[in-house]
Amino acid sequence: MPAFICTMCGTQHTPSDSPPAGCAICQEERQYVHPQGQGWTTLEQMRGAGRPWLASHRNGYVKYEPDLYGIVTAPGIGIGQRALLIRTPRGNVLWDCITYIDDATVEVIGKLGGIAAIAISHPHYYTTMVEWSHAFGRAPILLHEGDREWVLRPDPVIEFWKGATREIFPGVTLIHTAGHFTGATVLHWAAGAGGKGALLSGDSLQVVGPDKTVSFMWSYPNLIPLDAVTVRRIADIIEPWPFDSMYGAWPEALIKTGAQQVLAHAVDRYIEAVTQPPPGQRGEAVAPPARRSA
Ligand SMILES: [Zn+2]
Ligand SMILES: [Zn+2]
Repeated sequence: MPAFICTMCGTQHTPSDSPPAGCAICQEERQYVHPQGQGWTTLEQMRGAGRPWLASHRNGYVKYEPDLYGIVTAPGIGIGQRALLIRTPRGNVLWDCITYIDDATVEVIGKLGGIAAIAISHPHYYTTMVEWSHAFGRAPILLHEGDREWVLRPDPVIEFWKGATREIFPGVTLIHTAGHFTGATVLHWAAGAGGKGALLSGDSLQVVGPDKTVSFMWSYPNLIPLDAVTVRRIADIIEPWPFDSMYGAWPEALIKTGAQQVLAHAVDRYIEAVTQPPPGQRGEAVAPPARRSA
């Protein structure tokens, strides 16, 4: 039975004879269904149905720093997700996931040491995580318990974790921030940035790069921001973890150096922006307007 993939968000569903009725991730308020209707594909179809030279997609690789690689699919599928591979002496961690995987991907990553564990920031990156796990010796997939309801292809390789942090290997730690999703997580890699530390943030903390700033949204496509209290809480949760580089959700979404200072400034500026009128429009303080629609 084929495992259908939503063409809009790239999420693979549990195998079924016919396409599912809809994609729960796209139907939800944070995303949107394609204006021309729900589309489906399968990995088999994308891979050229047994003729890889006719595949519609290819994966490419970026080396960001020693032991950190980016994996990205061209042309883009879903929301253009990008995965990161961290190499550690105890085994490699795939951070976030992308929809497309083929034999060449497995071979290239195998030569980099394979994948010992998969961890994902939030449901927009669940994509074909079960395929990736199965291709790499059924590597465990670590997901925060808070987003359990968004797993559209359950599998025994998925392990839900609870609480504030979870160390995968020494120096590779998942930190629960919430915000964009209830279970939203970032990854702290102590050996990153030449030992100064790197923060891999998915789009829970949206890096606007290269080397620019950071912002925070509950919904990116629908431009619904997060509230000031939540953003301050996220900043407080991350504060004890030192880092110099920050890697966001897309290939260019990175802050190479000084990222901790950039984040601190971005948080202050964001909170000011969502609690004050814009500069030059700060007249008398007014009470927040009442809600007009039910
Ligand atoms: Zn979808
Ligand atoms: Zn997202």
